Amino acid sequence: ALMTAKEYIDSLRKLNTRVYMFGEKLDNWVDHPMIRPSINCVAMTYALAQDPQYEDLMTATSSLTGRRINRFTHLHQSADDLVKKVKMQRLLGQKTASCFQRCVGMDAFNAVYSTTYEIDEKCGTSYHENFKKFLVYVQDNDLTVDGAMTDPKGDRSKAPHEQTDPDMYVHVVERRDDGIVVCGAKCHQTGSINSHWHIFMPTIAMGEADRDYAVSFACPTDADGLYMIYGRQSCDTRKMEDGCIDVGNAKFGGQEALVVLDHVFIPNEYIFLNGEYEFAGMMVERFAGYHRQSYGGCKVGVGDVVIGAAALAAEYNGVEKASHIKDKLIEMTHLNETLYSCGIACSCEGCPTKAGNYQIDLLLANVCKQNVTRFPYEIVRLAEDIAGGLMVTMPSEKDFLSDTVVGREGETIGEICNKYFGAHEGVSTEDRQRIMRFLENMCLGAAAVGYRTESMHGAGSPQAQRVMIARQGNIQGKKKLAKNIAGIKE
Ligand code: SF4
Ligand code: FE
Repeated sequence: ALMTAKEYIDSLRKLNTRVYMFGEKLDNWVDHPMIRPSINCVAMTYALAQDPQYEDLMTATSSLTGRRINRFTHLHQSADDLVKKVKMQRLLGQKTASCFQRCVGMDAFNAVYSTTYEIDEKCGTSYHENFKKFLVYVQDNDLTVDGAMTDPKGDRSKAPHEQTDPDMYVHVVERRDDGIVVCGAKCHQTGSINSHWHIFMPTIAMGEADRDYAVSFACPTDADGLYMIYGRQSCDTRKMEDGCIDVGNAKFGGQEALVVLDHVFIPNEYIFLNGEYEFAGMMVERFAGYHRQSYGGCKVGVGDVVIGAAALAAEYNGVEKASHIKDKLIEMTHLNETLYSCGIACSCEGCPTKAGNYQIDLLLANVCKQNVTRFPYEIVRLAEDIAGGLMVTMPSEKDFLSDTVVGREGETIGEICNKYFGAHEGVSTEDRQRIMRFLENMCLGAAAVGYRTESMHGAGSPQAQRVMIARQGNIQGKKKLAKNIAGIKE
């Protein structure tokens, strides 16, 4: 059955997840003020699925069981499903202005489903059955799963088996009759702590010598030997302060962690790839394709909120009618909708895999993500332009509330702040504070992790897309077209 947001949060408490932060193990990480906003984001994927208004977008009929499931656990059955996925992500971006984390697992489900089918077809293995059984369990229990791909990678000029420390890539250290034992780590794992399970996948195409590194499997988040070290974000300790304005986005945020596998045992039924090295690349390519499409939804939704905040900042300053402000808001909208167009385009051009689920158009998904590595930067540049310097110079929330006398006539710090930071008639300084802090948070505070750097490097750094664009771009075919028209004989 579908979980409510509250049931999801309670379900996290029941896990024995091991989380480390600032050098210590956290006991109650679910209520930790630095972590909770990221849990609220995932909880929103459950809350919206309960809302009849969003039923068509947020839920789907399982292709495996025919039951009603959260779309985040769905295998896309058509181009229409791919489009709905993007729309769902835009909606979540609009509601949270953050990374809501649950897409990574969804993208892993779809990549592993189609890849395991093709491995079994060629190698006579039974990974696809393993995976289907696992996914039915995930769908029926409405679980959040982290798709874990990025290894530490050590010396980038060396293949996995050439590394001095073999743990630079996740690998099998022991093969037993009933399963395997794995070691290694995955870096900057979005939402890993907030997930019930993890699906581990290789991070690059591999050769025969990397056989032990060509491994994919599912594993509970609180498995023996698995632990997480929480990643820092700029301004993160503002979340530890009292008050709710300076933090910019008091309710929602993203989360990244280092996930360590220290001799974790994986039973056979949860293994989806084990030594068939020639399929590592296929799994990576498909997962990356889906996740590059995803950014054409989530970052667009976040962009919607940034554009809205910039427009409010202009209004509060009384400059919303200036033609250059209007023009900047048009440019921001143009850039944001261009990203959305790419997300929709690669979805509409989707086609069925051998296993039957739908794959996005790989070239267009990579073009989508390549644009995502650029446009949010221009959007925040324009937002900062419109907002003005106050965004980064405004005194704290505590100052605005302070009773401490500073003026000759007994004025308090709070009164002085409210006096000098007032602007357009009828707009409270508190509303102005809120919008400035929100923009600071998005442009260069904690949320810039999600909107800027994650746009740059999440789902693969720009160069990874250029490699795929080169591979999918069909320059030979284009040369032929030109030869034909220009009358050049073969
Ligand atoms: Fe989802 Fe976007 Fe976060 Fe990736 S970056 S998990 S697509 S919200
Ligand atoms: Fe991401």
